[in-house]
Amino acid sequence: MSNRRFLLVRRPNGMPVPEDFSLRDEAVPQPAPGSIIVKNYFASLDPAQRGWMDDAPSYMPPIRLGDPVRATTVGRVHGSANKDFAVGDWVVGLNAIEEYSIVAPGGFTSKIDVSGVPSPSYFLSALGAVGLTAYFGLLEGGNPQAGETVLVSAAAGAVGSVVGQIAKIKGCRAIGIAGGATKCRRLIADYGFDVAIDYRNKTVEQLSAEIAAAAPGGANIVFENVGGDILDAALMNLALQARIVLCGLISEYNSPHGKTGARNIWQLIVKRATMRGFLIADYVPRFAEGGAQIAQWIAQKRLRVDEHTVTGIENAYDAFMLLFKGGNDGKLLLKIA
Ligand code: NDP
Repeated sequence: MSNRRFLLVRRPNGMPVPEDFSLRDEAVPQPAPGSIIVKNYFASLDPAQRGWMDDAPSYMPPIRLGDPVRATTVGRVHGSANKDFAVGDWVVGLNAIEEYSIVAPGGFTSKIDVSGVPSPSYFLSALGAVGLTAYFGLLEGGNPQAGETVLVSAAAGAVGSVVGQIAKIKGCRAIGIAGGATKCRRLIADYGFDVAIDYRNKTVEQLSAEIAAAAPGGANIVFENVGGDILDAALMNLALQARIVLCGLISEYNSPHGKTGARNIWQLIVKRATMRGFLIADYVPRFAEGGAQIAQWIAQKRLRVDEHTVTGIENAYDAFMLLFKGGNDGKLLLKIA
């Protein structure tokens, strides 16, 4: 049985280039006692994977050169030497971009019930890290109160679009920042944001003025997915006691000159504001709770979660790069099987 695997063979310097990766066909070993073989149907393509490619201190070790690119996948048990998993079971787990993954005993993989979802890929989008990041990030990190203003960056993306919708469900005013007129139209029409701001080709001052016009009293919550200039503009528009949920800094992930960082953090003092990092991994014990609420909102048609699926492991590189060009409309997935 052959196994195509998308390997990291060189650490990217700035934007990843095709030469940083290699698609290799390798044999699938037999599972050792207690292990299972998972046939991967979908792999999640996430901005975080770019961080894992760097040899830098993080919440996870870097991907080793020569290893496949780490990814959360949804698949089916293809072979099992573990009494808790039967062939055919659907599972979600932290594996890699490869056709088959071996999961050692104790590996982070759990069974999923796909009977009630339109596609098993939902466990990578609505019911996966995307939906749960938006849910716990906004509710626990931001503590939104009805009537407050929530400012979201990368708002038309997977996490951002769900944050905006949950903000509306909680009775807040939602302002979204996204790239381009089409995405800005979708913010209003598809996701119910009150105001959409296109950040492209704007200085920090211009962006800051547009945020000020949309939120004259300032933002009570900033859900930050981008960093850099967008965070700087948001910092100039905080309400008193604002909460900034630092979820991601995608504008900095490919910087060849190191991190740029926010320059206007003096506004935290001016507005007695709080900026706190958020990591979805801290909420694993509460995934069932968050997933149940998200499933209910979807069933009630109060929440829409879009997926953008690229087919074929041979397209892994081009698909991954969509994240950094704003080419994805919804949660970016790679369909492998
Ligand atoms: P998205 O679906 O939002 O895709 C990324 C989007 O980011 C792109 O579509 C693009 O949208 C925007 N973007 C890319 N480069 C830039 C740039 N230089 N400047 C401004 N915008 C840019 O991805 P996700 O929803 O998966 O992730 C969103 C953020 O959430 C990321 O920062 C990610 O790291 C973070 N995250 C954090 C988690 C945590 O636990 N802390 C968990 C999951 C995600 P546009 O066209 O609008 O530019």
